[in-house]
Amino acid sequence: MEEIFLRPYQEQFIVDVRSEFSKNHRRVVGVAPCGAGKTIMTGWMVREVERRGKRTIFFVHRHELIKQTSETFEQLGIPHGIISAGYKMQLDLPVQIASVQTLAKRLEKVPAPDFLICDECHHILADTYRKILDAYPKAFLLGVTATPQRMGGINLGDVFSSMVEGPSVDELIKLGNLTAFKYFSPSEGIDLSSVRVKFGEFVNSDLAKVMENKKIIGNIVENYKRLANGKSAICYCVNVKHSKIVAEAFQNAGISAAHCDGETPKQTRARLVENFRVGKIKVLCNAELFSEGFDVPNMQAVILARPTKSLTLYIQQAMRPMRPDPDDPEKIAIIIDHVQNYSRFGLPNTVHAWSLAPNPPKKNFEAPMKSCKECGLVVPLATQICPDCRYEFITEEEKDERLIEHEGILTRIEKEADELIQRRRISHALTSPEYFMEIAKTKNYQVGWVAYKALEHATSYEDCLHIADVCGYKKGWAYYNWREREKKISSERTRQRTTEKFSRITL
Ligand SMILES: [Zn+2]
Repeated sequence: MEEIFLRPYQEQFIVDVRSEFSKNHRRVVGVAPCGAGKTIMTGWMVREVERRGKRTIFFVHRHELIKQTSETFEQLGIPHGIISAGYKMQLDLPVQIASVQTLAKRLEKVPAPDFLICDECHHILADTYRKILDAYPKAFLLGVTATPQRMGGINLGDVFSSMVEGPSVDELIKLGNLTAFKYFSPSEGIDLSSVRVKFGEFVNSDLAKVMENKKIIGNIVENYKRLANGKSAICYCVNVKHSKIVAEAFQNAGISAAHCDGETPKQTRARLVENFRVGKIKVLCNAELFSEGFDVPNMQAVILARPTKSLTLYIQQAMRPMRPDPDDPEKIAIIIDHVQNYSRFGLPNTVHAWSLAPNPPKKNFEAPMKSCKECGLVVPLATQICPDCRYEFITEEEKDERLIEHEGILTRIEKEADELIQRRRISHALTSPEYFMEIAKTKNYQVGWVAYKALEHATSYEDCLHIADVCGYKKGWAYYNWREREKKISSERTRQRTTEKFSRITL
C-alpha cells in the first residue's frame, strides 16, 4: 500500500464537505477542477466512513472511471467490490464501486448504502441517476464535478441543497497539479448563425456543414504548424466524417495524424493511442471520444474544432493538455480554439459563479476576452499589448489620438534638427559636403544628393576628393567628376567672358 498524503486544500475540501453534512444537508455537491485529485479526496472520505462500519457506493458512468477509481482505492487500502458488467459481485464488502447502468438494474440486490458518491455528477438529473437516488433516500449523497451545472436550464439545485467549492484552476497551476497554458483563437469568427440549437447544444449536422469548410480545415492545419508544430495534439471535431477529413488534411500537409472513433476496433484504437503516446502520431483526431475520463496519454496541445454550448464539454476538452509531464517541468499547454468557445465560457482558469439557485445567471462568468489579431492569443479585453507577440491593441479613436500625438512629436523632431543644423553651420561651411550630409541625415535624403549638392560648389580636384571621402566614394569618382566639373567651369568662364565683352560693347 502506497502512502498517500493530502494537500492542505484537499484536507480543507474534506473538512468543508463534512461540515455541510453535519449541518444536516443530506445532499452536497463538491466542485473541484480536474487535477484537484477528486478520487483521492473522495477515497479518503470513503475510508473514514468504512472505518466507522458504514457502507458506501461510489458510482460512475464510464467503465474507464471504474478502473481508475478501483486503483486509487487500492492505493488507499480500501477493500472494495465492483458492480459492473463482467465483474463478480462481492456485496459483503462495505465499499462498492459501481457503474451507473449496472447499479440501476441491480438495485434490489444491492444493500442500501449510508453514503453515496456520484462522480461527474453534472449527469445526475438523468433518469438512471434519479432511479438510484430514489432507491436510497436515506443515504448521504456527495456529488463531485468540475462544472456543477447542467445544460438545458435544468439546475443541480433540484438534487443538492449545498455546495462546497474546492481549489481554483489557478491555484492548481501554482501548485503544479496542472500546467500553465497558452490559449489561442486564431480564426476569424466562424459564422454559426445557420446552426440550430436543440436541448441547449448546437445541432451536430448543422455544425458539420459549417466546419467542413475547406478554408477552416486549412486554418486548423496552418495554425497547428504555427503554434504547436511537432507537439502531440488531440483535435476535437464535430463528427466522425469531419474528424476523418481533418486527419487527412494533416496527413496531406506531411504531419502524422490519425482518426479514431467509438467504432474503431478496440485493438486498432489501442495501437493508435500507443503510437500517439510514443510520438509516432502527432495529431489524433476524434469526435468526443477522448473527452470525459477516457485514458489517453499525456499530450502537449489540444485543437478545438467543435463549437459547443456545453461548459462541461468545453472544460473537459480544453484542459486535456494541462496534465503535468514529469519529463518536462517547463511544459506549457497549447490550446488552439478554432471555434471561439472562449467567447462563450472564458478560459480554463476563468472563475465561474456557480449556483444552485433555480434561475442562475445565463452567463456565469464576467471575463470578456478578445483574441490578438496578430498571433491569436486570447487575452482579457482590457489588454493593451499582447504578451506573446507584443501586438498593440488600439481602437480607431486611440489611433487618431496617437496620430495627432505622433505628428506633434514629428514637428518637434524636425525643429530640433533644424536647430542642430543651424549650430553645425558654424563649424561647417554652407557649401561643404559635411553640411549637406547633416541635412541629408535629418531629411532622410540619399548620399547621391549630398554629392550632387557639394559638387556644385567644388572648384578644385581636392574639393572633389574631399566630397568622395565624405560620401564614401572612390578616388575614381572624384577624378571623373572633377573632369566633368572642369569642363563645366571653363565653359561657364567662357560664357562669362563673352557676356563681359558684350556688355562692354553695349556700354
Ligand atoms: Zn499576439
